[in-house]
Amino acid sequence: MPYLLAAFVVLVLIAILQGCNGKGKPSPDAPDDKKPAPATKDAKSPDRKPAEPKASRAAADDKAAQQRQTPPRADPPPKKRAPMACCYEMAAPPTTFEYVCPTCGGKTLYALSADASEAQRSSVREITLTLHVELETCRRTVAAIPGSRVELDDSQFCRNCSPGVVNPQLVLVVRRPGSAEPHRFAGVTTEDVQLVREYLAGSAKHVGEHGYETPLMQHAQRIEQLLGAKVDGATAK
Ligand SMILES: [Zn+2]
Repeated sequence: MPYLLAAFVVLVLIAILQGCNGKGKPSPDAPDDKKPAPATKDAKSPDRKPAEPKASRAAADDKAAQQRQTPPRADPPPKKRAPMACCYEMAAPPTTFEYVCPTCGGKTLYALSADASEAQRSSVREITLTLHVELETCRRTVAAIPGSRVELDDSQFCRNCSPGVVNPQLVLVVRRPGSAEPHRFAGVTTEDVQLVREYLAGSAKHVGEHGYETPLMQHAQRIEQLLGAKVDGATAK
């Protein structure tokens, strides 16, 4: 019996030890395996997640930079606005002009004043229109005529040189061979000086506004008035 008791006790002890070991091993292992698993997943995922955001942020920054750069590329349209600006300028020339006299250097200001009469305002509009539209073109065209036979006199617009002139005009001055006094024609336009230039250059055609061409001799009568002389070939038209 004592052997049986001893064997039973030993078996019980073994069973208890196995029970303790069985409970102790799996319990710590299971929670350890379960806990670290999510821990490692969490540890890995946060490491991977920040890496991806960096790339995505960089891409987003690139897109933002591209979007910032694209607007200027879409701006070119202003080119189409240029003709409109041109049309506006031609439709409504300024009613103010400061004329600088090439002879005496004096400045004459033409401007609309509030207390001016309607006749005075109309005169100022006509004068400033001539100065804005005709003066520079006439000067350039006459300057392009070879020799010193033809000159443009715009001193009527100077209050210093021409104090008594009420309605100033551009004057074409033509020196004629054999005549002491030059021929003066007041009220010339851009087209007038173009006719004179073409005639003196021996051209057979007149290039008018917008490039419209006509035979020069169709304008012979006007050219004779401008030059104060008979025009060669005028009778042959
Ligand atoms: Zn002057």
